[in-house]
Amino acid sequence: MSEKNYCVSISRRGSRSCKETIKEAFDRLGGIESFVKPGQRIMLKPNYTGDLNPQEGAVTSNSVLEGLIQLLREAGVQDITIAEGCGTVHIGTSVIFRHVGIEKIADQYGVKLVDMNTCPMRTVAIPDAVWLKEVQLSEGLFGYDLVINVPVIKTHVQCVFTCAVKNMKGAVSPKHKRYFHATELHQCIADFQLVLPKMITVVDGLIGQEGMGPAEGIPVPLDIIMVGENSVAIDGVAMAIAQINPEEVKHVCLAAQMGQGSYMLDDIDVLGVQIEEITRKFKSANTDVGSYDGVELYTDNACSGCTNSLVIALNRLKNSGDLEKFDGLQIKCGSGKPDCKEYKNFFYLGRCSHGMGKKEAETNDHVHLIDGCAPCALEIEERIREVYGIDRHL
Ligand code: SF4
Repeated sequence: MSEKNYCVSISRRGSRSCKETIKEAFDRLGGIESFVKPGQRIMLKPNYTGDLNPQEGAVTSNSVLEGLIQLLREAGVQDITIAEGCGTVHIGTSVIFRHVGIEKIADQYGVKLVDMNTCPMRTVAIPDAVWLKEVQLSEGLFGYDLVINVPVIKTHVQCVFTCAVKNMKGAVSPKHKRYFHATELHQCIADFQLVLPKMITVVDGLIGQEGMGPAEGIPVPLDIIMVGENSVAIDGVAMAIAQINPEEVKHVCLAAQMGQGSYMLDDIDVLGVQIEEITRKFKSANTDVGSYDGVELYTDNACSGCTNSLVIALNRLKNSGDLEKFDGLQIKCGSGKPDCKEYKNFFYLGRCSHGMGKKEAETNDHVHLIDGCAPCALEIEERIREVYGIDRHL
């Protein structure tokens, strides 16, 4: 092994099982036994962005979680928990556990499932934070000997890219998840890493996602598993594989600037499969809002933060077959003045338009505010559905 500061081990699955592939990746780092001991309590933190098909790269694959459970059992670990606090709070993590199929696997192996959104919350001070001086974390995150972060590799409409660093946001309370989006999203993500418990990352790189990730993108088969101890270095390698410029991924840059690790390939020893063997340019999110039948959009002076979230929310409404039910839907983001004759159901989106909409909302029941900079796409969808009283079909 060279003198570089960080190591990331990459294995290709091919015709092997996930357990064998994960084992090989761990073996280059000294074996799973150098990270876990018999009798320990281990938590697995997957990525369950929403109620989505695990075959499409948006959420962690069942086969990777099952392979990890099998490997941990072989290493003498009986007490295993899978814990997540999904961003789609209106759907609920336990519903997602059932729909993606992990509930069945957990039953089969005697593994516990924890919805971190519904646990009691613990306020943790972050003395060295740049912005977020305290964070509400789920009690479901604590009490383990090791947390194994199991993210996927995806482009992201608000963060450009997501893998290891951002995935732990599932452990943040729903209130603080919203607060992140309403304030300094990237700095909040970088800040709360400082108070996370002992962790290692096993990346599910079987299928990534490009384009309108983290939920509505296009699957990219990669067929790899990556293991590493440093989340920033893991993200550095994942970005190199996806040919994403790290300088555009603010939360990872900020984490690196704070001394949490390095995404520079010169600092990272890549063991096993090399980046050149698997690299593939991921398409970025399309920020063009376009038009949607029956929806009035006002996006003058809006930046890509708002327009990306808006596109995702509208695509989700459209793909669910519900968009035509939202009669009179009007949405405005950015600082431009809307040229609107009559308010039907008018949503002011994002901090830039909040001031403009606040007065109107006080006197007009047809005016609604959705705050955030950038606002969260899933929250936009949820709020529109709430105002119209139309649930998403599950
Ligand atoms: S609120 Fe303003 S600055 Fe923030 S994402 Fe929206 S348009 Fe951009």
